Amino acid sequence: MPKKTPPIIPIFLPQRACPERCIYCNQRVATGATTTPTPAEVDDHIQQILNNSAESYQIALYGGSISALPVEELEGYLQAIRRVEPTDRILCIRISTRPDTVSSEMIELFRRYRVETVELGVQSLDDEVLVRIKRGHDAKSVRQATERLQKAGILVGHHLMLGLPGQSADSFARTVQETIELKPTTVRLHPTLVLEDTELAGMWRRGEYIPMELEQATADCARAYSRFYDSNISVIRLGVQETETLAAGVLAGPHHPAFGELVVSRWLRELVEKAIKAQKPKNKCIKLLVAPKALSLFIGQKRCNVHFFKEELGLDIDIAPCQSMEDYEFQLA
Ligand code: SF4
Repeated sequence: MPKKTPPIIPIFLPQRACPERCIYCNQRVATGATTTPTPAEVDDHIQQILNNSAESYQIALYGGSISALPVEELEGYLQAIRRVEPTDRILCIRISTRPDTVSSEMIELFRRYRVETVELGVQSLDDEVLVRIKRGHDAKSVRQATERLQKAGILVGHHLMLGLPGQSADSFARTVQETIELKPTTVRLHPTLVLEDTELAGMWRRGEYIPMELEQATADCARAYSRFYDSNISVIRLGVQETETLAAGVLAGPHHPAFGELVVSRWLRELVEKAIKAQKPKNKCIKLLVAPKALSLFIGQKRCNVHFFKEELGLDIDIAPCQSMEDYEFQLA
């Protein structure tokens, strides 16, 4: 079960400092952000949120190539964040950026302003895929940036995508394996969606790109989620963040507002199926005790897991909460 993390105040600098636009990217659609705030506006925005609540926050600079900004400009934003009072309610700063812009100078700046986490836009560790999606960097730069940040004591997150042009199931599986070897602290994983006003949208219209089906994307993500879970790498997001602009701007692809639940539910179903097959129950009615917080995930949306066990294994499964269980624990009774 994901741990409760402090809320994030996201500051979007849409496509700021990106050398070129990746073929799937439309920050206006993905985040709703169209303009870049000044450091003073960032300061005001965070201060207002703090004044109107008693919570403590993480501050995140997202939506562009943050470490490709001129040093003075990025320092202006970091100063604005650290200026907010009371300072102890700003728990940490997170930054998302491209791996090829994580220079020693930037790492030094991150350390000076106590940036806790740098999330790298990795997408794939297959160089051919990276060329196809016009990332403008290779897999080696991901490895280098990850190691340098880790050496500097900064937590690293990886953003990964599946269903990219030219990305086979094997290529995605290799990316997952290599990611595990690089040991990021966190991973965000989402399927490729065709957003309006992107190069990918043109490819899709011309029939040059066929998006993944929701079923396949869910199954592949569940397999990857399982690998990360077993490797103690925390998956902090499955699927893209839902926004009003996203819902209106998705042209095609495996878009589902509760994609993360679908994936975790699918993963749990596979775990239970494995346990049932190992136990070879004689009775066709099975009781499954599960951690209360994960009850709905074990059952699945529209009871899909219950239907699966009936239709595929001929079993009537009664899924019930057990107070002594935690996280994703379960037991066949
Ligand atoms: S680097 Fe990130 S923000 Fe910039 S174009 Fe690519 S995906 Fe979009």
